[in-house]
Amino acid sequence: MTAFRTLDQANLKGKRVLVRVDLNVPMDNGKVTDATRIERVLPTIREIAEKGGKVILLAHFGRPKGRDPKESLKPVAEAVAKHLKKAVAFADDCIGEVAAKAVAALKDGDVLLLENTRFHAGEEKNDKDFVAELAKLGDIYVNDAFSAAHRAHASTEGLARVLPSFAGRTMQAELDALTKGLEAPARPVVAIVGGAKVSSKIDLLENLVAKVDALVIGGGMANTFIHASGLNVGKSLAEKDLAATALRIIEKAREANCAIILPVDGVCAKEFKAHAENHTYGIDAIPDDQMILDVGSQSVERINSAISDAKTLVWNGPLGAFEIAPFDQGTVAAARHAAARTKAGKLVSVAGGGDTVAALNHAGVADDFSYVSTAGGAFLEWLEGKALPGVEALRV
Ligand code: AMP
Repeated sequence: MTAFRTLDQANLKGKRVLVRVDLNVPMDNGKVTDATRIERVLPTIREIAEKGGKVILLAHFGRPKGRDPKESLKPVAEAVAKHLKKAVAFADDCIGEVAAKAVAALKDGDVLLLENTRFHAGEEKNDKDFVAELAKLGDIYVNDAFSAAHRAHASTEGLARVLPSFAGRTMQAELDALTKGLEAPARPVVAIVGGAKVSSKIDLLENLVAKVDALVIGGGMANTFIHASGLNVGKSLAEKDLAATALRIIEKAREANCAIILPVDGVCAKEFKAHAENHTYGIDAIPDDQMILDVGSQSVERINSAISDAKTLVWNGPLGAFEIAPFDQGTVAAARHAAARTKAGKLVSVAGGGDTVAALNHAGVADDFSYVSTAGGAFLEWLEGKALPGVEALRV
């Protein structure tokens, strides 16, 4: 049982339903270039419409300072209509007379998109009066935008405090996956954290060592740990000034009984370039003129054996410079192994955060993971153990 109110508890028939969605889609020349976010919110829109609710979509787009035609959601309304295969009306403002008229014109099952909520300063300030203006337009509030839930804005948090509020289906799927990943996981749990830098993931590492049974550290950030343990990392990307932080994280892991798995070998090159001449060295024998660009085969073996021992995997960040071959191989091998374990029903695998989605797509296994979050910042804050305001407001 989820600890959140969902559409199963909502009485939608004939109701004006304000639905917060993520339509912050990439655009080029007025055309949507990647419709993933649109696809993700279709089930919730369809369900509310089919149950006789009037669907009123609320979303932000970009970071406008006030009203700016370049950041209008109007072209996005057309794209939503195309994917939904149903008309989507558009109102030039998200509050006031224009919005009220558009809402009044809706019949049960109709869909309307309101203009960019960030055209009003009250949105990001979570201003009470702005929340009240939005709330006038609806009877019920549904939040289907997990990716915006780390912000306490009017349309992501304020509305949930003043209207009966529910999680949409995409939000629900994300919350269920995150609960299975860290909050109430099947143990043992292994986390893989990679990517460029320790500095951007200190909170995340500190939170994970307290919660998981084993933590694999890979990517550029592993170099900082290797340097902190007194070894040479040559020309590798490493934040040497964070050696003390790395040692503190290792100590915290020891206290929490969390095994830390660091690379034992590295695929190295003299330059950061695709197909650069490369060699694998033991981690205690990295030459001065080389940089570690991927985990070596012995490290992959250890990582895969940790994955085999686990019932749950949480993954953020690539194990190497996966954008440039052949330094993608460690990431690809571990991703494929995790995908195979998941397909065999032996592993719950939850991955997310920026480059991780790209890396799993590159390995061709994103669809085989139990859940891949595209939420970026919100997913990372969740990994950091922070309460997400938009999620907290939906708790039963
Ligand atoms: P992040 O956004 O922190 O997850 O970092 C992802 C980036 O880290 C990717 O662009 C990778 O190319 C980069 N990366 C991973 N491993 C290494 C490495 N060993 N050396 C340099 N960059 C790396």
